[in-house]
Amino acid sequence: MTLAIPFDNSYARLPAALFTRQDPVPVPEPRLLAWNEALAEELGITGTPDAAIFAGNALPDGATPLAQAYAGHQFGGFSPSLGDGRALLLGEVIDRQGQRRDIQLKGSGRTPYSRGGDGRAWLGPVLREYVVSEAMHAMGIPTTRALAAVLTGEEIYRETALPGAVLTRVAASHLRVGHFEYFAARDDRASLQALYDHAVERHDPGAQDPLAFLQGVITRQSALVARWLGVGFIHGVMNTDNTTISGETIDYGPCAFMDNYHPTTVYSSIDRHGRYAYDNQVQVLPWNMAKLASALLLLMPDPDAAIQPFTEAVHAMPALIEAQRQKVFAAKIGITTPRDGDAALIDDLLALMQAGGSDFTNTFRALPTNDAKDHLADREAFLDWTARWHDRLAEEPDPAALMTRSNPAVIPRNHRIEQMITAAVAGDMAPFERLMSALARPYAEPADPDLTKPPAQDEVVTATFCGT
Ligand code: AMP
Ligand code: MG
Repeated sequence: MTLAIPFDNSYARLPAALFTRQDPVPVPEPRLLAWNEALAEELGITGTPDAAIFAGNALPDGATPLAQAYAGHQFGGFSPSLGDGRALLLGEVIDRQGQRRDIQLKGSGRTPYSRGGDGRAWLGPVLREYVVSEAMHAMGIPTTRALAAVLTGEEIYRETALPGAVLTRVAASHLRVGHFEYFAARDDRASLQALYDHAVERHDPGAQDPLAFLQGVITRQSALVARWLGVGFIHGVMNTDNTTISGETIDYGPCAFMDNYHPTTVYSSIDRHGRYAYDNQVQVLPWNMAKLASALLLLMPDPDAAIQPFTEAVHAMPALIEAQRQKVFAAKIGITTPRDGDAALIDDLLALMQAGGSDFTNTFRALPTNDAKDHLADREAFLDWTARWHDRLAEEPDPAALMTRSNPAVIPRNHRIEQMITAAVAGDMAPFERLMSALARPYAEPADPDLTKPPAQDEVVTATFCGT
């Protein structure tokens, strides 16, 4: 049966300054590598997946492919013109829950926003994003999704020749903080207003004004970053063009999950000063929201008068994020609702883990069992901590069950991702399939216990690269 996507495109009707219509650039030999049947069903897509469509060689009925314009602060510096340089929004669908969702090709060729780039992606980052975004979703963390991955049959060049690929990404929207910055930097209030109206309709239908909208984004993003911390996730490039309005995680470039707990962990090879280190993510987010606030001020009838409430919304963020973080980590140690004293309990455990170089995921996962002590170097200190903790847990209804559903057994560890990519480049998709099936149920013990193990010395990945 021919593939049918029930498009209902709204972005393509927005003012022309917001995007450029652009068709994908065909590739020599599309071959479907991965297809997300469950997601296709959720989106109301019917028929047989067609590699030609997900490579950009054929356009499905109803698609209006376009590249979006956006700007962004990258590592603190402003780039007024970024935009989709290698991605195209095919269109939107209303999913089975009534939610509008974007369907985007990533790696589909050059666009007017490509600057010096080739508009392409290679297989490694495409599969990394596929696996990690689907793992995030299975853990219950808001994220863009992966619908399909295709090989293009084309060689592309990074440091060396690599197999080209296209990812089909699904998102509540692809709107980024950088979309707002783009029009604010140009003082184009009409386009900014149209963008704002579109964003409000999609993400904050109840918002009465730009301040309420800002608060909605702040709430979603604060909850998101707290969830990242809870699974040891380091995004790696929290630029404002990689920070969504929807509150979904987007752009799995040099991202990684920590093995050993250390709060200043950085993996990204381009993040030389640790701007986007694990613990710095809580500081970067308010910085990014300040950029959104500045852009939204232009929509206010009296921007000067609005500065104070907008500033207050941003200044309230550290406390908001910390409260979210405490809630996430309280659940990880079996506490339903944190109260006074619980923050110290959490931070004392983290300090012991840091001192002992404990594996983040496995230590939390072992807490309800007798094996937890094996993960902490200072056993005596851990036993003292355990005594305090058990006193506190006496008041909790079912801490073991709460911990089991708050602490994943299996995460997409860097060394497994790298091994999966190496195998896929050599034509072996078995490690990809093996990872996908374990990561689909992260809170269950995987059939293959190897996937829960930290890397052996020679498997440790010390840096992730942006050469995507
Ligand atoms: P990213 O690092 O993927 O978040 O991308 C940042 C910006 O660079 C976005 O505007 C991308 O569209 C653009 N970009 C990244 N890689 C390429 C590429 N290979 N070709 C063209 N544009 C690219
Ligand atoms: Mg990006």
